[in-house]
Amino acid sequence: MASLHTHRETSDALTSSDPAQGHIVGYRTICASNLKFPGNGVVEHHSCESPVLVNPQRYSSSVCALAEAGIHNLTSHLRCPPKIESGMPKPTQTPRAELHTHLGGAVDPPILWSIAHRQGIRLPSKDYWDFEAMVTMKPGSRNRDLDEMHNRVYRWTELIQSSPDAIAESVASVIGGGYRKCNLVLQELRFNPMFRNRKGERDLDHIILAATSGLHRSLIEYQQVRAGLILMMDRRLTPRENSIIVEKAIRYRHFGVVGIDLAGPNRARFSMRKVAPLFQHARDAGLGVTVHAGETGDLEELRYVVREIRPDRIGHGIALVDDPELAKEVAQRGITLELCPTSNLKNGMVRDLRQFGRIVRALQKHGVRFTINTDGPEMYGTNVHKEQELLRKAGILTPEGIASCNRWAFEASFLSSHTNADPAGPGGSRKADKA
Ligand SMILES: [Zn+2]
Repeated sequence: MASLHTHRETSDALTSSDPAQGHIVGYRTICASNLKFPGNGVVEHHSCESPVLVNPQRYSSSVCALAEAGIHNLTSHLRCPPKIESGMPKPTQTPRAELHTHLGGAVDPPILWSIAHRQGIRLPSKDYWDFEAMVTMKPGSRNRDLDEMHNRVYRWTELIQSSPDAIAESVASVIGGGYRKCNLVLQELRFNPMFRNRKGERDLDHIILAATSGLHRSLIEYQQVRAGLILMMDRRLTPRENSIIVEKAIRYRHFGVVGIDLAGPNRARFSMRKVAPLFQHARDAGLGVTVHAGETGDLEELRYVVREIRPDRIGHGIALVDDPELAKEVAQRGITLELCPTSNLKNGMVRDLRQFGRIVRALQKHGVRFTINTDGPEMYGTNVHKEQELLRKAGILTPEGIASCNRWAFEASFLSSHTNADPAGPGGSRKADKA
């Protein structure tokens, strides 16, 4: 066995030429071809008569892949299932789009933990599990309101993401994660750059540009995905600060910024009227416009947003249930709602799923288009597929209703209408538009 041929490989599916490290499972004359291993990349073989070795730790998947690739003379004790399953669970194979995800609630806690340590951020606990509890919401737990949510979770996640390296890694992880976990082939990811520059210590342009570099890196890694960034204004910022964010969004529209948003808990000094011209400015520059409105039941503000700002989309908008005339107007204007069921439940915006069901039925009655989103998948322990299942199992949406929401999400995406930037990447696919 000393003359075992070396296998040049890019995965650990096959072992090195040392038989002590692997099991010989057969011999074959190997054509120079690439063998694809599920989830493990590609292994190249030379043409030769070669023993085939399998790493014991990956025995099952490796052997099954060899069998499917036509390698003969496999030893008789091999047991393969009749069909190789892909790594993705079947229910998640439907191509999906998510339009409403906040970066502050979307990064896997272990990734955030590592980023925090790399930057030397002093965390309140030295135990990872305490940290995970801090940046996620346990089943059954609720925030009193949006302020509590921001003070409890976003305060930390925004601090950790407040450097160019940290935000680039965060953005890339969310776009890749969305594809792996529930087949998000289109994702719009939003964040407020002014909450990630340590109150002016870091340069805003560096933060935003790093986010776009993370976006493009993920699109090279996951070439089936299309994605874009939305920069957010906030009710807690001054009109001047919000205007800077809009200017930055316009400046980086060729780098993958596709839209502008406004969010944040309400403040007495905030006036939607004062920021209204900023939305028009963004729209004139070719950016999509969405606004967090009608989440907390403020109907006056929601009416102003629908009639005066006339956004392409509204984040939440669930207060429409209390104004049928406004709901009809939303439908007539072609405004699409970004619903986030678990977020609304966790933040006390709706009491229970029965109330959420009443909201959905009202939207359907008036012909309002809506999409299903997470608001922050890691923070709320969910994803778009789980949200859809939540509504289906509660009898709120049928499978056909879910398919409509999915289609509307692709149609309402700013990536579909965005002509200034094409962040689809070199291998980007536009087929998902028709999914
Ligand atoms: Zn939101």
